[in-house]
Amino acid sequence: MPKFLLLVVVLALLVPSVKAQSLDAMIDRDIASWLTTYRNLHTAPELSHREEKTSAFIAGELRKLGFTVTERIGKYQNTQWNGYGLVAVLKNGPGPTVLVRTELDALPVEEKTGLPYSSQVKTKNDAGVEVGVMHACGHDIHMTSFLGTAKMLTELKGRWSGTLVMLGQPAEETGDGANAMLRDNLYANFPKPDFAIALHDKPELETGKVGYTPGYAMASATSIDIKIRGVGGHGSAPETTKDPIVVAAQVVMALQTIVSRENSPLDPAVVTVGSIHGGTRYNIIPDEVNLQLTVRTYKEDVRKRILASIERMVKGVALTAGIPEDRAPVVKVSEGTGSTYNDPKLIERLVGAFKQALGDENVKEMPPMMASEDFGYFSLDHSIPATIFWLGASEPAKVKQSRESGVALPGLHSALFAPVPEPTLRTGVKAMTTAVLELMKKP
Ligand SMILES: [Zn+2]
Ligand SMILES: [Zn+2]
Repeated sequence: MPKFLLLVVVLALLVPSVKAQSLDAMIDRDIASWLTTYRNLHTAPELSHREEKTSAFIAGELRKLGFTVTERIGKYQNTQWNGYGLVAVLKNGPGPTVLVRTELDALPVEEKTGLPYSSQVKTKNDAGVEVGVMHACGHDIHMTSFLGTAKMLTELKGRWSGTLVMLGQPAEETGDGANAMLRDNLYANFPKPDFAIALHDKPELETGKVGYTPGYAMASATSIDIKIRGVGGHGSAPETTKDPIVVAAQVVMALQTIVSRENSPLDPAVVTVGSIHGGTRYNIIPDEVNLQLTVRTYKEDVRKRILASIERMVKGVALTAGIPEDRAPVVKVSEGTGSTYNDPKLIERLVGAFKQALGDENVKEMPPMMASEDFGYFSLDHSIPATIFWLGASEPAKVKQSRESGVALPGLHSALFAPVPEPTLRTGVKAMTTAVLELMKKP
């Protein structure tokens, strides 16, 4: 064969393989296997603090791709729980360190989607009660997108330079997993990131699209237990008692004035009393009433002020009712979740890259919300630019119908939540890969 002909043949053979390097073609090639991974993860969910098998699976997949993987990261305040966090590092020359997070855990929800790959898993929760377990928050979508992103980035190593840290976080639903990993010296034992990114699926957004919220996107959540102690007695003789039920009722009403009268209307905040329990029967004034509250804010100083107000009001109302000092109410604040602040400069940069990769019409700004998530802790109080972006997960026709009718689609944590795997996974991998390439692209 003449030399030039040989060259033509070689070139002809090369062209399709060069083309196959486009991200879309790589995704086409792998989507079937990701769908299998997704269904497998969906059928085998594990509760928070118990993500042992899920974590081992993700770690194994990343090891196969050539990452240096460390497992069992995370120290909880409850020492009976094991930390199933994992970190996988891929060093690829000089440049920034980018952290990509996925959650690993599922929820105590009995699945009712009727999907062929529905979860049948049942387990006993920490209280010994049998519960169904379901990936009702879509963390299986996140894990699959995460593994797909890791694969794309190992194959595209020629296009980026820096250190990639893929992080599997346990116990997101209970709000203590990110802190458990940080407490286990995450940033001393592994490269500290220059940027941290995560995605979360969103039922209100069409599949094929991504969404973003600059600045505060999700609130901090703090759980508070209040024990109002009175002096019990006969229901017919209130004068011989200090009735904690009446005090509790006054407390509930007084708490409503914190957000409405003490807080700036420009600082979003919520104080919700979600549980109130006291007493046993008609004619007994009980000794105590227990309340459970959730407090949501964006700013940390607002959160602190509200917690102080709650304590002051509860004690003040009890004092007014004449409850003796040694029976003063007990206010217990539990470890909560910090707010999620999306670094505006970082999100702007990613949105530019998303628009190029997915088209302007598939990148949508979305309003903030008062739900919460512990990803923000990885930013170390905003000192590391971090952002979470939304991944559309519902059929466009259903989103349209829901907007028109005002009837919400089954949301996150619903037993009926059923994200559309295709093209949600495709978009998840494409968007996350695009985000990392944008931050680590070679000059
Ligand atoms: Zn959730
Ligand atoms: Zn979630």
